[in-house]
Amino acid sequence: MPVMRSKQKSPRRRFFGRMNNIFMEIQPETTCPSCGSAIPAIAYFCSNCGKPLRDKPPATTLSRQIVVYLISLFLPPFGFWYAWKYLKRADHESRKIGIIAVILTMISMLVSIWAFEGFINSVSQSLDLINNFNL
Ligand SMILES: [Zn+2]
Repeated sequence: MPVMRSKQKSPRRRFFGRMNNIFMEIQPETTCPSCGSAIPAIAYFCSNCGKPLRDKPPATTLSRQIVVYLISLFLPPFGFWYAWKYLKRADHESRKIGIIAVILTMISMLVSIWAFEGFINSVSQSLDLINNFNL
């Protein structure tokens, strides 16, 4: 069990402590299955007791689902990573989340490709216009 060295922290330590708290708040959190302390969901080890956390099943709460779906929509490669994590699970709820994440990721990628094609088309149309002017 880790021992708190001192209750009084230097301003620098306090600043980093606060930054860490903010960081912990914006990322999905989970609890350690061993000691029950709150830890980031992406952590490999518990920061409190040091237990490895790789086997912990991904949470299926609504807030967690929203995070997964948003990541799938806006960061497609990570969406696939999440989808794979959920699809690995045997339970129906996790599979459903995985499938939705895959669909959202594919929609996101299709929209990106479509937007890129539109951009290419408009560029080639502009080039055609310039060529016609030169003739
Ligand atoms: Zn722990």
